[in-house]
Amino acid sequence: MAVPAGPAVLVWLAFQSGYTQFSHMQATTAPNLHNIDVWIFDLDNTLYPVGCDLGTQLGRRMGEFVAQFLGLPLDQARVVQKQYFHAHGTTLRGLMVEHGLDPGDYLDYVHDLDLSGIPIDERLGQALEALPGRKVVYTNATTKHARRVVGHLGIQHHFDGFFDIVDADFMPKPNHSPYDAVLDRHDIDPTTAVMVEDIAQNLMPAANLGMATVWVRGGRGLTLTAEQIPHVHHVTDDLPGWLLDLPG
Ligand SMILES: [Mg+2]
Repeated sequence: MAVPAGPAVLVWLAFQSGYTQFSHMQATTAPNLHNIDVWIFDLDNTLYPVGCDLGTQLGRRMGEFVAQFLGLPLDQARVVQKQYFHAHGTTLRGLMVEHGLDPGDYLDYVHDLDLSGIPIDERLGQALEALPGRKVVYTNATTKHARRVVGHLGIQHHFDGFFDIVDADFMPKPNHSPYDAVLDRHDIDPTTAVMVEDIAQNLMPAANLGMATVWVRGGRGLTLTAEQIPHVHHVTDDLPGWLLDLPG
């Protein structure tokens, strides 16, 4: 692999080092965060740590829903679930396009999750309290799920708005169209906004629109190539700590 030039090199170095040496990083030419007036936060695995088993629960409930909806055994339903995910971007879109599914039934079922495994980090509320500007949650899940999660975390009063998969007309991140819709819906100037996400690919459209980006890496393996990394301006393994010690 070639060593990337410019801002990408810091992230690349961390990748090569196995992620263990850098808990916070900032690219040398990252957008200045002093002018930020809107913070757009992803929800799952961003506002709480990855590894809380929500993804496992979600995947299981998706499989159960597909099995019930199509009258298939679970193992066959899982195959269909994966086929639709690859063919349509999400299992939900596959069911809507191929079978005329009412998305509300699906979204309510798959997001009926046990949140008790999500730890509460008091620093996150402190960090959001100290953070100037509006805060919006932008999730590929539902606003109902987002409100439950931020309520569980005790940070619901810090958010000014939500944008979910229904608002996105069922086009999940990183499709480009919903990013424009988020900006329109919440009257956001992308050049004074920052997007915070655990999936680095989802930051590319945000960076292309002029937003600053923060990748909450969470210690997970990287699926990006070095050429894609320049869309990430800031990296952290500890979002509350990073916000409390905001780079300039
Ligand atoms: Mg996420």
